[in-house]
Amino acid sequence: MPALLTLNSGSSSIKFAVYLQKEEQLHEVASGQVDALGPKASLIFKESGVRHQTEIGKADHLLGLKAILEALKPVLGGEYIAGVGHRIVHGGTLYAEPILLTGAVLRALDDLSPLAPLHQPPNLAGVKAAMQAFPEAIQVGCFDTGFHRGHPYENDTYALPPKFYEDGIRRYGFHGLSYEYVSSYVQQHYPDLKDGRIIIAHLGNGCSMCCVRGFRPIASTLGFSSMDGLPMGTRCGQIDPGVIFHLLDKGMSADEVDALLLKNAGLKGMSGLSNDMRQLLASDSSDAANAVSYFVSRIRREIGSLTAANGGLDALVFTGGIGENAWQIRERVCADLDYFGLAVDPAANRENQESIGIGRTKVLVINTDEQRVIADALVSFL
Ligand code: ADP
Repeated sequence: MPALLTLNSGSSSIKFAVYLQKEEQLHEVASGQVDALGPKASLIFKESGVRHQTEIGKADHLLGLKAILEALKPVLGGEYIAGVGHRIVHGGTLYAEPILLTGAVLRALDDLSPLAPLHQPPNLAGVKAAMQAFPEAIQVGCFDTGFHRGHPYENDTYALPPKFYEDGIRRYGFHGLSYEYVSSYVQQHYPDLKDGRIIIAHLGNGCSMCCVRGFRPIASTLGFSSMDGLPMGTRCGQIDPGVIFHLLDKGMSADEVDALLLKNAGLKGMSGLSNDMRQLLASDSSDAANAVSYFVSRIRREIGSLTAANGGLDALVFTGGIGENAWQIRERVCADLDYFGLAVDPAANRENQESIGIGRTKVLVINTDEQRVIADALVSFL
């Protein structure tokens, strides 16, 4: 059986995973990432639980993919790569389901770049590089916005004249591949939550929360662009649009405001230290403490909002690098929320166990796997 490759191409890294199909099941045989694209890139390659790191020197997306291909040769044992699946952050109103990537589709996706400027351009650079590196393989795009397309209208729109909605000014929501993985994991392992009202908090570098009912998407904290809702590593999250007009009036250029809100805000901007939660939790600076407190407080407020949107709460799921590892954040998020049935077992929480709730509401910690969702989608195109 030929191999499948999944890619998550960012501006400075390419994360990948490789799968072989045996007895109708997909098996991940290797994974890793090319880091620090630029003059001094390196390749981290994981196979059978063993991690190797090699310096590969100067690399753009194409050279990074070639380094991955070279490292894969012994693992593939002569099998060829039949399909490459790509994580694409924004599918707009046109694309929700996974799709074969053609020149016309790529042009339409490029038009959406202003809506996700940190992610869409490197995602598409990764697709173009993969088309060159693997010219025989089919290329399939899977969209982070796709999961949310079934939202009720009131959770999908802004209070603007309807013309704007028709023109695509809507709440798209992101992190959909992660939500899809977590939803199907819960569906498989917690049958009692079949009709459940569930909030999923994806807390990584990018952060958002969504709620599902009977595994159907209801609402998300992220909206039109990738800036709304929770504060993130470098993005501000929810902000009064009046602040933006005020800053423009005070003489900042639109580009400066954009850079402030996207790259110099959030955990990094508030702390003045780092966008890395580990560093903030270890720091004794009051700015770092304020950044963490604001982060926790926004999550708690969104639990209230999403619970109301969903008519109740049966389970809260944490995922993403912070959600899966930072027990301090989970503890603070769930503290004194017994009116939502939330309470965590301190020991189970510190050990990052999967089920940590001891109240009426389940509290789960689930490691997300967006690459697996892409690989599963890719199989249906072969
Ligand atoms: P991305 O959105 O880039 O995929 P991740 O999901 O890997 O990011 O999440 C990155 C975030 O997870 C960073 O803020 C990092 O500090 C945090 N993180 C990872 N491990 C831990 C840990 N053990 N404790 C606290 N935070 C952690």
